[in-house]
Amino acid sequence: SLSERLGGVFDKLRGRGALGEADVRAAMREVRIALLEADVALPVVRDFVEKVTEQAVGQQVLKSVTPGQQVVKIVNDALVEMLGAEASELELAVTPPAIVMMVGLQGSGKTTTTAKLAKRLTEKDRKKVLMASLDVNRPAAQEQLATLGTQTSVATLPIVAGQQPVDIARRALQAAKLQGFDVLMLDTAGRLHVDQALMDEMKAVADVAQPQEILLVVDSLTGQDAVNVAKSFSEQVPLTGVVLTRMDGDARGGAALSMRAVTGKPIKFAGVGEKLDALEAFHPSRVAGRILGMGDVVSLVERAAETIQADEAEKLAAKMAKGQFDLNDLRSQLEQMKRMGGLGALASMLPGIKKVQNAMANGQVDDKILVRLDAIIGSMTPRERTKPELMNAKRKIRVANGSGTTVQEVNRLLKMHQEMSTAMKKIKKMGGLKGLGAMFA
Ligand code: GDP
Ligand code: MG
Repeated sequence: SLSERLGGVFDKLRGRGALGEADVRAAMREVRIALLEADVALPVVRDFVEKVTEQAVGQQVLKSVTPGQQVVKIVNDALVEMLGAEASELELAVTPPAIVMMVGLQGSGKTTTTAKLAKRLTEKDRKKVLMASLDVNRPAAQEQLATLGTQTSVATLPIVAGQQPVDIARRALQAAKLQGFDVLMLDTAGRLHVDQALMDEMKAVADVAQPQEILLVVDSLTGQDAVNVAKSFSEQVPLTGVVLTRMDGDARGGAALSMRAVTGKPIKFAGVGEKLDALEAFHPSRVAGRILGMGDVVSLVERAAETIQADEAEKLAAKMAKGQFDLNDLRSQLEQMKRMGGLGALASMLPGIKKVQNAMANGQVDDKILVRLDAIIGSMTPRERTKPELMNAKRKIRVANGSGTTVQEVNRLLKMHQEMSTAMKKIKKMGGLKGLGAMFA
Protein backbone atom coordinates (compact mmCIF):
# COMPACT_ATOMS: atom_id res chain seq x y z
CA SER A 1 0.00 0.00 0.00
CA LEU A 2 0.93 3.62 -0.30
CA SER A 3 1.58 3.95 3.42
CA GLU A 4 4.05 1.06 3.38
CA ARG A 5 5.86 2.54 0.41
CA LEU A 6 5.99 5.94 2.04
CA GLY A 7 7.20 4.32 5.23
CA GLY A 8 10.34 3.21 3.43
CA VAL A 9 10.96 6.59 1.90
CA PHE A 10 10.56 8.35 5.20
CA ASP A 11 12.39 6.07 7.59
CA LYS A 12 15.48 8.22 7.28
CA LEU A 13 13.45 11.33 7.93
CA ARG A 14 12.23 10.34 11.38
CA GLY A 15 12.92 12.87 14.05
CA ARG A 16 13.43 15.78 11.69
CA GLY A 17 11.18 18.77 12.12
CA ALA A 18 10.02 19.73 8.66
CA LEU A 19 9.51 18.10 5.26
CA GLY A 20 12.39 18.92 2.90
CA GLU A 21 12.05 19.23 -0.86
CA ALA A 22 14.10 16.11 -1.67
CA ASP A 23 12.07 14.04 0.81
CA VAL A 24 8.78 15.27 -0.57
CA ARG A 25 9.87 14.59 -4.16
CA ALA A 26 10.80 11.03 -3.17
CA ALA A 27 7.40 10.58 -1.55
CA MET A 28 5.63 12.04 -4.55
CA ARG A 29 7.08 9.34 -6.76
CA GLU A 30 5.12 6.86 -4.65
CA VAL A 31 2.03 9.05 -4.66
CA ARG A 32 2.23 9.24 -8.46
CA ILE A 33 2.22 5.45 -8.71
CA ALA A 34 -0.72 5.19 -6.32
CA LEU A 35 -2.72 7.67 -8.39
CA LEU A 36 -1.93 5.91 -11.65
CA GLU A 37 -2.93 2.59 -10.10
CA ALA A 38 -6.23 4.22 -9.15
CA ASP A 39 -6.63 5.10 -12.84
CA VAL A 40 -6.29 8.84 -12.50
CA ALA A 41 -5.41 10.28 -15.92
CA LEU A 42 -1.73 11.04 -16.45
CA PRO A 43 -1.93 14.81 -17.07
CA VAL A 44 -4.10 15.13 -13.98
CA VAL A 45 -1.57 13.16 -11.94
CA ARG A 46 1.22 15.46 -13.09
CA ASP A 47 -0.59 18.67 -12.13
CA PHE A 48 -1.70 17.23 -8.85
CA VAL A 49 1.75 16.05 -7.79
CA GLU A 50 3.25 19.43 -8.66
CA LYS A 51 0.67 21.26 -6.60
CA VAL A 52 0.96 18.99 -3.58
CA THR A 53 4.76 19.12 -3.63
CA GLU A 54 4.59 22.88 -3.29
CA GLN A 55 2.21 22.57 -0.37
CA ALA A 56 4.12 19.88 1.47
CA VAL A 57 7.67 21.23 1.40
CA GLY A 58 8.46 22.95 4.66
CA GLN A 59 5.46 21.69 6.58
CA GLN A 60 6.07 20.78 10.20
CA VAL A 61 5.82 17.08 11.01
CA LEU A 62 3.55 16.16 13.90
CA LYS A 63 5.44 14.11 16.46
CA SER A 64 2.79 11.50 17.05
CA VAL A 65 2.67 10.35 13.39
CA THR A 66 5.37 9.40 10.91
CA PRO A 67 6.38 11.81 8.14
CA GLY A 68 5.00 9.29 5.64
CA GLN A 69 1.62 9.37 7.34
CA GLN A 70 1.73 13.12 7.39
CA VAL A 71 2.37 13.25 3.64
CA VAL A 72 -0.58 10.92 3.10
CA LYS A 73 -2.72 13.37 5.03
CA ILE A 74 -1.49 16.30 2.93
CA VAL A 75 -2.18 14.32 -0.24
CA ASN A 76 -5.59 13.32 1.08
CA ASP A 77 -6.56 16.90 1.87
CA ALA A 78 -5.43 18.02 -1.56
CA LEU A 79 -7.50 15.23 -3.15
CA VAL A 80 -10.59 16.20 -1.20
CA GLU A 81 -10.13 19.83 -2.14
CA MET A 82 -9.66 18.93 -5.77
CA LEU A 83 -12.68 16.61 -5.81
CA GLY A 84 -14.79 19.55 -4.75
CA ALA A 85 -17.39 20.39 -2.16
CA GLU A 86 -19.40 17.70 -0.41
CA ALA A 87 -22.68 16.77 -2.09
CA SER A 88 -23.58 19.71 -4.30
CA GLU A 89 -27.16 19.01 -5.29
CA LEU A 90 -29.07 20.10 -8.38
CA GLU A 91 -29.79 23.78 -8.98
CA LEU A 92 -33.47 23.78 -9.74
CA ALA A 93 -34.59 27.11 -8.29
CA VAL A 94 -36.25 28.53 -11.40
CA THR A 95 -39.79 29.11 -12.59
CA PRO A 96 -40.96 25.56 -13.33
CA PRO A 97 -40.30 23.46 -15.21
CA ALA A 98 -36.60 23.18 -14.33
CA ILE A 99 -34.86 21.23 -17.03
CA VAL A 100 -32.21 18.60 -16.48
CA MET A 101 -30.45 17.13 -19.50
CA MET A 102 -28.38 13.96 -19.33
CA VAL A 103 -25.50 13.43 -21.77
CA GLY A 104 -22.79 10.80 -22.18
CA LEU A 105 -21.60 7.80 -24.14
CA GLN A 106 -23.78 4.77 -24.85
CA GLY A 107 -24.00 2.42 -21.92
CA SER A 108 -22.63 4.96 -19.44
CA GLY A 109 -25.88 4.78 -17.47
CA LYS A 110 -27.82 7.84 -18.66
CA THR A 111 -31.24 6.22 -18.81
CA THR A 112 -30.84 4.43 -15.49
CA THR A 113 -29.55 7.59 -13.83
CA THR A 114 -32.41 9.63 -15.30
CA ALA A 115 -34.87 7.31 -13.56
CA LYS A 116 -32.84 7.24 -10.34
CA LEU A 117 -32.72 11.03 -10.19
CA ALA A 118 -36.41 11.37 -11.06
CA LYS A 119 -37.26 8.96 -8.26
CA ARG A 120 -35.08 10.87 -5.84
CA LEU A 121 -36.57 14.24 -6.80
CA THR A 122 -40.09 12.81 -6.49
CA GLU A 123 -39.60 11.11 -3.15
CA LYS A 124 -37.07 13.29 -1.39
CA ASP A 125 -37.87 16.73 -2.78
CA ARG A 126 -41.57 16.16 -3.48
CA LYS A 127 -41.17 17.36 -7.07
CA LYS A 128 -43.55 16.54 -9.88
CA VAL A 129 -41.22 15.08 -12.50
CA LEU A 130 -41.64 14.30 -16.21
CA MET A 131 -39.09 12.14 -18.04
CA ALA A 132 -38.59 12.13 -21.79
CA SER A 133 -36.27 9.96 -23.88
CA LEU A 134 -34.70 11.66 -26.89
CA ASP A 135 -32.87 8.50 -27.85
CA VAL A 136 -34.02 7.60 -31.35
CA ASN A 137 -30.80 5.70 -32.03
CA ARG A 138 -30.93 2.68 -29.83
CA PRO A 139 -33.85 0.35 -30.54
CA ALA A 140 -36.44 0.43 -27.75
CA ALA A 141 -34.57 3.11 -25.82
CA GLN A 142 -37.75 5.14 -25.35
CA GLU A 143 -39.61 2.05 -24.15
CA GLN A 144 -36.80 1.39 -21.66
CA LEU A 145 -37.43 4.78 -20.05
CA ALA A 146 -41.21 4.23 -20.09
CA THR A 147 -40.71 0.95 -18.22
CA LEU A 148 -38.48 2.66 -15.66
CA GLY A 149 -41.17 5.34 -15.32
CA THR A 150 -43.74 2.69 -14.44
CA GLN A 151 -41.37 1.10 -11.92
CA THR A 152 -40.67 4.41 -10.19
CA SER A 153 -44.17 5.89 -10.61
CA VAL A 154 -42.70 8.83 -12.52
CA ALA A 155 -44.52 10.20 -15.58
CA THR A 156 -42.92 9.76 -19.01
CA LEU A 157 -43.66 11.64 -22.21
CA PRO A 158 -45.87 9.54 -24.53
CA ILE A 159 -43.83 8.04 -27.38
CA VAL A 160 -44.50 9.36 -30.89
CA ALA A 161 -42.84 7.22 -33.54
CA GLY A 162 -40.52 8.88 -36.06
CA GLN A 163 -39.94 12.14 -34.17
CA GLN A 164 -36.41 13.60 -34.07
CA PRO A 165 -34.66 14.53 -30.78
CA VAL A 166 -35.11 18.30 -31.08
CA ASP A 167 -38.82 17.87 -31.81
CA ILE A 168 -39.25 15.50 -28.88
CA ALA A 169 -37.53 18.08 -26.69
CA ARG A 170 -39.95 20.80 -27.85
CA ARG A 171 -42.94 18.54 -27.22
CA ALA A 172 -41.65 17.57 -23.78
CA LEU A 173 -41.13 21.21 -22.85
CA GLN A 174 -44.65 22.10 -23.85
CA ALA A 175 -46.16 19.14 -22.00
CA ALA A 176 -44.18 19.98 -18.86
CA LYS A 177 -45.39 23.59 -18.95
CA LEU A 178 -49.01 22.78 -19.70
CA GLN A 179 -49.28 20.00 -17.13
CA GLY A 180 -47.51 21.85 -14.35
CA PHE A 181 -44.43 19.65 -13.89
CA ASP A 182 -41.69 21.00 -11.59
CA VAL A 183 -38.87 19.19 -13.34
CA LEU A 184 -38.36 17.89 -16.87
CA MET A 185 -35.63 15.30 -17.33
CA LEU A 186 -34.27 14.82 -20.83
CA ASP A 187 -32.51 11.50 -21.44
CA THR A 188 -30.45 11.70 -24.63
CA ALA A 189 -28.85 9.20 -26.98
CA GLY A 190 -25.24 8.18 -26.67
CA ARG A 191 -22.72 6.78 -29.09
CA LEU A 192 -20.06 4.17 -28.63
CA HIS A 193 -17.46 6.85 -29.20
CA VAL A 194 -17.53 10.61 -29.25
CA ASP A 195 -18.47 11.79 -32.74
CA GLN A 196 -19.53 15.09 -34.25
CA ALA A 197 -23.05 13.95 -35.12
CA LEU A 198 -23.68 13.21 -31.45
CA MET A 199 -22.22 16.55 -30.36
CA ASP A 200 -24.32 18.45 -32.89
CA GLU A 201 -27.43 16.70 -31.64
CA MET A 202 -26.54 17.57 -28.00
CA LYS A 203 -25.99 21.20 -28.91
CA ALA A 204 -29.24 21.46 -30.84
CA VAL A 205 -31.24 19.96 -27.96
CA ALA A 206 -29.51 22.20 -25.42
CA ASP A 207 -30.31 25.25 -27.58
CA VAL A 208 -34.00 24.40 -27.67
CA ALA A 209 -34.38 23.26 -24.06
CA GLN A 210 -32.01 25.73 -22.31
CA PRO A 211 -31.49 23.30 -19.40
CA GLN A 212 -30.60 24.47 -15.87
CA GLU A 213 -28.50 21.36 -15.47
CA ILE A 214 -26.56 19.44 -18.09
CA LEU A 215 -25.13 16.38 -16.39
CA LEU A 216 -22.39 14.33 -17.98
CA VAL A 217 -22.87 10.67 -17.08
CA VAL A 218 -19.59 8.76 -17.01
CA ASP A 219 -18.87 5.14 -16.25
CA SER A 220 -16.21 5.19 -13.53
CA LEU A 221 -14.71 2.02 -15.02
CA THR A 222 -13.79 3.89 -18.21
CA GLY A 223 -10.35 4.59 -16.77
CA GLN A 224 -7.87 6.72 -18.68
CA ASP A 225 -10.29 7.22 -21.58
CA ALA A 226 -12.75 9.02 -19.31
CA VAL A 227 -10.66 12.15 -19.69
CA ASN A 228 -11.10 12.30 -23.46
CA VAL A 229 -14.84 11.78 -23.11
CA ALA A 230 -15.13 14.51 -20.50
CA LYS A 231 -13.01 16.86 -22.55
CA SER A 232 -15.05 16.42 -25.74
CA PHE A 233 -18.37 16.92 -24.01
CA SER A 234 -17.31 19.86 -21.88
CA GLU A 235 -15.91 21.65 -24.92
CA GLN A 236 -19.16 21.37 -26.83
CA VAL A 237 -21.99 21.61 -24.33
CA PRO A 238 -22.11 23.79 -21.19
CA LEU A 239 -21.96 21.05 -18.55
CA THR A 240 -23.05 21.88 -15.00
CA GLY A 241 -21.99 18.67 -13.35
CA VAL A 242 -20.96 15.05 -13.57
CA VAL A 243 -22.56 11.79 -12.45
CA LEU A 244 -20.21 8.86 -11.99
CA THR A 245 -21.87 5.48 -12.44
CA ARG A 246 -20.72 1.98 -11.49
CA MET A 247 -18.90 3.26 -8.42
CA ASP A 248 -20.05 -0.04 -6.91
CA GLY A 249 -17.66 -1.86 -9.23
CA ASP A 250 -14.75 0.53 -8.97
CA ALA A 251 -12.56 0.14 -5.94
CA ARG A 252 -10.14 2.78 -7.15
CA GLY A 253 -12.13 5.93 -7.81
CA GLY A 254 -9.51 7.57 -10.01
CA ALA A 255 -12.01 8.62 -12.68
CA ALA A 256 -13.58 11.04 -10.22
CA LEU A 257 -10.40 13.04 -9.88
CA SER A 258 -9.88 13.09 -13.63
CA MET A 259 -13.47 14.22 -14.28
CA ARG A 260 -13.26 17.04 -11.84
CA ALA A 261 -9.91 18.21 -13.15
CA VAL A 262 -10.87 18.11 -16.82
CA THR A 263 -14.41 19.50 -16.69
CA GLY A 264 -13.94 21.82 -13.73
CA LYS A 265 -17.50 20.87 -12.81
CA PRO A 266 -18.65 19.29 -9.55
CA ILE A 267 -19.41 15.59 -9.33
CA LYS A 268 -22.98 15.66 -8.13
CA PHE A 269 -23.95 12.03 -7.74
CA ALA A 270 -22.51 8.54 -7.73
CA GLY A 271 -24.34 5.53 -9.11
CA VAL A 272 -23.68 2.53 -6.88
CA GLY A 273 -25.75 -0.26 -8.40
CA GLU A 274 -28.39 -1.26 -10.91
CA LYS A 275 -31.33 -0.78 -8.54
CA LEU A 276 -33.25 2.47 -8.86
CA ASP A 277 -32.38 3.69 -5.39
CA ALA A 278 -28.67 3.02 -5.90
CA LEU A 279 -27.77 6.68 -6.29
CA GLU A 280 -25.80 8.62 -3.70
CA ALA A 281 -24.64 12.14 -3.17
CA PHE A 282 -20.97 12.28 -4.03
CA HIS A 283 -18.58 12.14 -1.05
CA PRO A 284 -15.12 13.51 -1.91
CA SER A 285 -13.54 12.31 1.34
CA ARG A 286 -14.67 8.73 0.78
CA VAL A 287 -13.31 8.74 -2.76
CA ALA A 288 -10.03 10.28 -1.64
CA GLY A 289 -9.75 7.48 0.90
CA ARG A 290 -10.34 4.93 -1.85
CA ILE A 291 -7.74 6.45 -4.12
CA LEU A 292 -5.14 6.38 -1.36
CA GLY A 293 -6.44 3.14 0.09
CA MET A 294 -5.84 4.31 3.61
CA GLY A 295 -8.70 5.91 5.47
CA ASP A 296 -7.15 4.75 8.74
CA VAL A 297 -3.98 6.76 8.34
CA VAL A 298 -5.94 9.87 7.52
CA SER A 299 -8.06 9.61 10.65
CA LEU A 300 -4.98 8.90 12.74
CA VAL A 301 -3.35 12.11 11.56
CA GLU A 302 -6.59 13.96 12.06
CA ARG A 303 -6.74 12.80 15.65
CA ALA A 304 -3.18 13.92 16.22
CA ALA A 305 -3.95 17.26 14.66
CA GLU A 306 -7.00 17.70 16.90
CA THR A 307 -4.75 18.19 19.86
CA ILE A 308 -3.20 21.29 18.37
CA GLN A 309 -6.46 22.98 17.68
CA ALA A 310 -5.53 26.61 17.84
CA ASP A 311 -8.57 27.85 19.72
CA GLU A 312 -8.06 25.25 22.44
CA ALA A 313 -4.43 26.27 22.80
CA GLU A 314 -5.41 29.91 22.82
CA LYS A 315 -7.96 29.42 25.57
CA LEU A 316 -5.47 27.47 27.61
CA ALA A 317 -2.77 30.06 27.11
CA ALA A 318 -5.06 32.84 28.21
CA LYS A 319 -5.95 30.93 31.34
CA MET A 320 -2.35 30.15 32.08
CA ALA A 321 -1.41 33.77 31.69
CA LYS A 322 -3.83 34.52 34.50
CA GLY A 323 -2.69 31.50 36.47
CA GLN A 324 -6.07 29.87 35.93
CA PHE A 325 -5.31 26.39 34.62
CA ASP A 326 -7.80 24.65 36.85
CA LEU A 327 -9.10 21.13 37.31
CA ASN A 328 -11.77 21.62 34.63
CA ASP A 329 -8.96 22.21 32.15
CA LEU A 330 -7.10 19.20 33.44
CA ARG A 331 -10.26 17.20 32.98
CA SER A 332 -10.65 18.23 29.35
CA GLN A 333 -6.98 17.38 28.84
CA LEU A 334 -7.67 13.93 30.25
CA GLU A 335 -10.64 13.64 27.91
CA GLN A 336 -8.34 14.38 25.00
CA MET A 337 -5.86 11.79 26.20
CA LYS A 338 -8.59 9.19 26.20
CA ARG A 339 -9.52 10.10 22.64
CA MET A 340 -5.90 9.90 21.57
CA GLY A 341 -5.72 6.32 22.74
CA GLY A 342 -4.60 6.46 26.33
CA LEU A 343 -1.39 7.23 28.08
CA GLY A 344 0.83 5.75 25.38
CA ALA A 345 0.02 8.49 22.92
CA LEU A 346 -0.29 10.99 25.70
CA ALA A 347 3.30 10.56 26.82
CA SER A 348 4.55 12.35 23.73
CA MET A 349 1.96 15.10 23.91
CA LEU A 350 1.80 16.43 27.39
CA PRO A 351 4.28 18.73 29.06
CA GLY A 352 6.01 17.34 32.08
CA ILE A 353 4.39 13.97 31.59
CA LYS A 354 7.54 12.23 32.79
CA LYS A 355 7.26 14.14 36.01
CA VAL A 356 3.62 13.24 36.27
CA GLN A 357 4.38 9.61 35.70
CA ASN A 358 6.99 9.74 38.44
CA ALA A 359 4.51 11.41 40.68
CA MET A 360 2.27 8.43 40.29
CA ALA A 361 4.28 6.64 42.89
CA ASN A 362 3.09 3.09 42.34
CA GLY A 363 4.12 3.27 38.67
CA GLN A 364 0.95 1.53 37.55
CA VAL A 365 0.39 3.75 34.54
CA ASP A 366 -2.44 2.41 32.46
CA ASP A 367 -5.62 3.72 30.91
CA LYS A 368 -7.72 2.85 33.94
CA ILE A 369 -6.00 5.70 35.68
CA LEU A 370 -7.62 8.13 33.29
CA VAL A 371 -11.04 6.86 34.28
CA ARG A 372 -10.18 7.18 38.00
CA LEU A 373 -8.79 10.68 37.57
CA ASP A 374 -11.96 11.67 35.78
CA ALA A 375 -14.05 10.20 38.59
CA ILE A 376 -12.08 12.17 41.18
CA ILE A 377 -12.62 15.48 39.39
CA GLY A 378 -16.25 14.51 38.86
CA SER A 379 -16.74 14.16 42.61
CA MET A 380 -15.51 17.67 43.34
CA THR A 381 -17.79 20.66 43.55
CA PRO A 382 -17.55 23.22 40.74
CA ARG A 383 -15.88 25.58 43.22
CA GLU A 384 -13.26 23.03 44.15
CA ARG A 385 -12.52 22.42 40.50
CA THR A 386 -11.75 26.05 39.82
CA LYS A 387 -9.94 26.53 43.15
CA PRO A 388 -7.96 23.35 43.88
CA GLU A 389 -6.30 25.06 46.84
CA LEU A 390 -9.60 24.63 48.73
CA MET A 391 -8.93 20.91 48.95
CA ASN A 392 -8.23 20.36 52.61
CA ALA A 393 -8.05 16.99 54.40
CA LYS A 394 -11.80 16.85 55.02
CA ARG A 395 -12.69 17.60 51.40
CA LYS A 396 -10.16 15.07 50.16
CA ILE A 397 -11.79 12.32 52.20
CA ARG A 398 -15.21 13.28 50.85
CA VAL A 399 -13.98 13.26 47.23
CA ALA A 400 -12.11 9.97 47.68
CA ASN A 401 -15.26 8.33 49.06
CA GLY A 402 -17.42 9.85 46.32
CA SER A 403 -15.19 8.63 43.52
CA GLY A 404 -14.38 5.22 44.94
CA THR A 405 -10.70 6.11 45.20
CA THR A 406 -8.30 6.90 48.04
CA VAL A 407 -7.05 10.12 49.57
CA GLN A 408 -3.64 9.15 48.23
CA GLU A 409 -4.99 9.15 44.70
CA VAL A 410 -6.71 12.48 45.24
CA ASN A 411 -3.37 13.87 46.38
CA ARG A 412 -1.65 12.48 43.32
CA LEU A 413 -4.17 14.13 41.07
CA LEU A 414 -3.71 17.47 42.77
CA LYS A 415 0.04 17.08 42.45
CA MET A 416 -0.35 16.21 38.79
CA HIS A 417 -2.36 19.34 38.23
CA GLN A 418 0.30 21.40 39.93
CA GLU A 419 3.07 19.82 37.86
CA MET A 420 1.19 20.54 34.70
CA SER A 421 0.50 24.15 35.64
CA THR A 422 4.18 24.65 36.34
CA ALA A 423 5.24 22.98 33.09
CA MET A 424 2.79 25.06 31.14
CA LYS A 425 3.97 28.28 32.71
CA LYS A 426 7.51 27.36 31.78
CA ILE A 427 6.52 26.71 28.20
CA LYS A 428 4.63 29.96 28.11
CA LYS A 429 7.80 31.75 29.15
CA MET A 430 9.76 29.92 26.48
CA GLY A 431 7.62 30.69 23.49
CA GLY A 432 4.11 31.65 24.37
CA LEU A 433 1.38 30.38 22.13
CA LYS A 434 3.75 29.03 19.51
CA GLY A 435 5.58 27.05 22.13
CA LEU A 436 2.31 25.68 23.36
CA GLY A 437 1.35 24.57 19.86
CA ALA A 438 4.71 22.92 19.40
CA MET A 439 4.45 21.06 22.64
CA PHE A 440 1.19 19.47 21.57
CA ALA A 441 2.57 18.65 18.14
P1 GDP B 1 -27.26 4.50 -21.28
O1 GDP B 1 -26.95 3.83 -22.57
O2 GDP B 1 -26.25 5.57 -20.97
O3 GDP B 1 -28.65 5.01 -21.20
O4 GDP B 1 -27.07 3.39 -20.14
P2 GDP B 1 -28.18 2.60 -19.30
O5 GDP B 1 -28.83 3.50 -18.34
O6 GDP B 1 -29.08 1.87 -20.25
O7 GDP B 1 -27.28 1.59 -18.47
C1 GDP B 1 -26.52 0.56 -19.04
C2 GDP B 1 -26.33 -0.55 -18.02
O8 GDP B 1 -25.59 -0.10 -16.92
C3 GDP B 1 -27.64 -1.07 -17.46
O9 GDP B 1 -27.60 -2.46 -17.39
C4 GDP B 1 -27.69 -0.48 -16.05
O10 GDP B 1 -28.41 -1.29 -15.17
C5 GDP B 1 -26.23 -0.42 -15.70
N1 GDP B 1 -25.93 0.62 -14.71
C6 GDP B 1 -26.23 1.94 -14.75
N2 GDP B 1 -25.78 2.59 -13.65
C7 GDP B 1 -25.16 1.65 -12.89
C8 GDP B 1 -24.47 1.69 -11.62
O11 GDP B 1 -24.31 2.74 -10.96
N3 GDP B 1 -23.98 0.51 -11.15
C9 GDP B 1 -24.13 -0.67 -11.86
N4 GDP B 1 -23.61 -1.77 -11.33
N5 GDP B 1 -24.75 -0.72 -13.04
C10 GDP B 1 -25.28 0.40 -13.57
MG1 MG C 1 -30.10 5.19 -22.67
